[in-house]
Amino acid sequence: MSRPLIDLQSDVKTRPTPAMRRAMAEAEVGDEAAGEDPTVNRLCERVAALLGKEAALFAPSGTQCNQIALCVLGRPGDELICDRSAHILCFEAGGLAANAGLNATALEGERGRYSVAQLEAALRSPSRHAPRQSVLALEQTSNLGGGAIWPLEQIEAVCAVARGHGMKTHMDGARLLNATVATGVSAADYARPFDSAWIDFSKGLGAPVGAALAGSKAFIDEAWRVKQRLGGTMRQAGIIAAGALFALEHHVARLKHDHDNAKALARGLDRMPGVAIDPTWIETNLVYFALDPEHCALDAERFCAALLERGVRMGVYGPRLVRAVTHIDVHANDIDTALAAVEAVLAEAN
Ligand SMILES: *Cc1c(COP(=O)(O)O)cnc(C)c1O
Repeated sequence: MSRPLIDLQSDVKTRPTPAMRRAMAEAEVGDEAAGEDPTVNRLCERVAALLGKEAALFAPSGTQCNQIALCVLGRPGDELICDRSAHILCFEAGGLAANAGLNATALEGERGRYSVAQLEAALRSPSRHAPRQSVLALEQTSNLGGGAIWPLEQIEAVCAVARGHGMKTHMDGARLLNATVATGVSAADYARPFDSAWIDFSKGLGAPVGAALAGSKAFIDEAWRVKQRLGGTMRQAGIIAAGALFALEHHVARLKHDHDNAKALARGLDRMPGVAIDPTWIETNLVYFALDPEHCALDAERFCAALLERGVRMGVYGPRLVRAVTHIDVHANDIDTALAAVEAVLAEAN
C-alpha cells in the first residue's frame, strides 16, 4: 500500500503533531503524585476553569475518570442509572461492578439520550429491599448514539430529577468539546448540573494520552484516593500533560473541520445505494451507517476488510453497522478519497 492509510476507525488514532511533540519535549516536570508537576498543575487549573469546577485531576484515561467518579459517587450495592449504550456499561470491562461495586439500570434512550419520563419510570421507591439509586450518568456527546448532542435543557431536566431523588450526577465528557464547538454552549454550562465531569485529550483533541476529571474540592480530594488505589498516580506526567495543554490551546476550534468532514462523508454515503444513513443525524464527528442487505452483499466485517485493502479503515459496530470517525489527521480531500473507496468496494461486491 503506497498511499498512507486514511484512518477513520476512531478519533483515538491521531498522532501528536510536530508542534505538540516539541511542547511535550520542553515541558517542565515534577512528581505528579506529590502535586509537584507544574505542567500537570497548570492543566488541572485550566480544566477546572473550563468546566466551571473547583478542582480537577489528571488521569491516564477517560475510562479511569469514569471509574474514579463511580467509586467516589456510589457505594458498593448502589445503583447507577445511565443509557444502555453508555461507555461505562459497554466498554469498561465491567469496572462499574468490579471497581465501584455498582449495579446498573439501563435506559433505552434515543441515540444515547434518555428523557425525564424514562428516568422517572426507572426511579424506585425508597425501601430496604431496593438498591439505593445513587448515581446518574450521561455522555456528551453520545458515542454509540452517533455523536448526538444532549440539549442543555434536557441535561438540566434529567439532572434536576436525579438530584430530587437524592442522586449524584456524572458527565462522561469524552467528546464534550465537540458538543461545545458544534452548539456554542460553553463546557461550563454543560458541566454545571453535574457533581463530576471530565474531558478526554486523546480523542479528537489529538493528544497521545490523558483525560482530566473535575468536581468540587472535596470530590477531587476523594478522587485522588481512588486514583491512587487504581494505580493511576503518575510521576513526571508533565510530559503528557503538555500534549493535553497544547491540544486545549490549539486543537479545540478546529474540531469544526471534523464536524464538516463528517457531514460531507455522510452526504456522500447517503448517495450510495447499499448504504443506509440519515445525514441529518450527523451533529459532530461520528458517522454510523448500515449496509443495506438488499443492495450490499457484504456484511460489515467484509466491507471494512475490502475498504482497508483500498487504504481506508473504518470500524465494525454490528453485523451490518459501520462507524467512521473524523479527526485531526483526516483532511477534507481524504473524505473524497474515502468515498471513492467505498463506492469501489460496493461496486465490486455487486
Ligand atoms: C473513549 C470513550 C471513553 C474512554 O476514554 P479513554 O480515554 O479511551 O479511556 C469514555 N466514554 C466515551 C463516551 C468514550 O467515547
